[in-house]
Parts: sequence; structure tokens; C-alpha cells
Amino acid sequence: MSNLISPFRETIRRTIPRLIPVECFLCGAEGEFDVLCPACIAVLPRWRRGDACPICALPATAGRTCARCISRPPPFDATIAVYDYVFPVGQLVHALKYRTALDLAAWLGARLAECAGAGWDIVVPVPLHRGRLRERGFNQSLELARPLARRGIRLLRDGVVRSRATPSQAGLDARARWRNVRGTFDVEADLEGCSVVVVDDVMTTGATLRALALALRRAGAVRVANLVVARTPQ
Ligand SMILES: [Zn+2]
Ligand SMILES: [Zn+2]
Repeated sequence: MSNLISPFRETIRRTIPRLIPVECFLCGAEGEFDVLCPACIAVLPRWRRGDACPICALPATAGRTCARCISRPPPFDATIAVYDYVFPVGQLVHALKYRTALDLAAWLGARLAECAGAGWDIVVPVPLHRGRLRERGFNQSLELARPLARRGIRLLRDGVVRSRATPSQAGLDARARWRNVRGTFDVEADLEGCSVVVVDDVMTTGATLRALALALRRAGAVRVANLVVARTPQ
């Protein structure tokens, strides 16, 4: 439970920085840092743009578009990840979903914002179905998107709806995941001519992000890119 910083303690820590030493979320070391200690940050497995397909973010020779994206182009134009989804990034992503680790989400969101590049009109956090949102109490993708929104990109919170409660994607293969999520997003906003960046915690098969990109395109988006904390290697 030591990783769960109470709202009170968190308020004090933010108001009077360095009064309470922080415990590193991964190793538990105490110190004056923000969420993760420098030693843990140094060994996090960074996703490398130069070794990945620019569209799906999977490993590809010399950063060229992979054969799969050439033969069957997905509805999004690009994917940018911060980390590879290998140890210990899984622990961070897991914590985002199942605990109220909002300080961790803010820290990871800042890393996303650093990698986002320029030229985006709108940032869309992948929405949860309202039933799931009620259960969990927060949408981790929205928390991850906030630092990007603070850079002046319009945050689309309510204009995208997950209209069906889909079962968990865990343990499903790519086809089953696609059947699970296709047609699940409704975009109520007019995105005519907009460049949209979609924020999510992890990209596994990309089924969810494909379904959302299709809906965003139907609403008029001219460019859609995914920005994720972690990309699952094949
Ligand atoms: Zn550490
Ligand atoms: Zn690709």
C-alpha cells in the first residue's frame, strides 16, 4: 500500500515540495524525486522510433513502414510509444488501471507530452464505457492526456463515447479483440479537417485504437496518431 499516496499526503507534497520524501514507485527507495527514482528511470526500456514501423510502432528494419501496414494500412497514420511493454513497464501500466495512482499517471502523461511532437489540434483520451468508469472512478487515459492538454491542445473529453461495454481484451487473440471492439466508439464532435492525437496506456494488437481511429475519421479527422505509454512487442 506504500505506493498509494493519500490525497492529503499528495496535497502536502505538492504544496510543500521536499517536505516528505517520495518512495520510488518501482523500487521503494526514498528520495527527493517525482514518482520514480533516477536509477529506475534510467533502466526503463525506451521504445526506439528508429527501430520501429512509424505506423504501428512494431519493430521494423531501419524505421521503415512494415509489410503488414503496407498491405493492410490501418486507419491511423502513426503510433508513438514511450516504452516497450516489458518488465518493469507492465507494473506501471497495471498500476494505472487498477489503483488510484494519479501521480504516476501525471508523471507518465508528462513523458507522453515530451514525445508527442507538434501539429495536433485535438487530443482524445480513449474513453471507458460509463459502467467501467463508474467502477474504476477515473479514466487512466484521460489522466495521461492532461499534460498534453496543458500545452494548449484541445482536450476532447465528452465528444467521444464508448457506446458498448466490451468484455476485457485480456487473453483474446487479435481477431477476437477486433470483433470485441469494432463499432464500439461514437464520435459526437465535428472533427472536420482536424489532426487528432489519441492517448492510451498500452497498445497490444491495436484493435481498440483501430476502432477509435475509424470513428474519428468518419467524424472528419484528417490525421490520426496514437500516443501510448507502452507498445507490446509482437
Ligand atoms: Zn526506483
Ligand atoms: Zn507497421
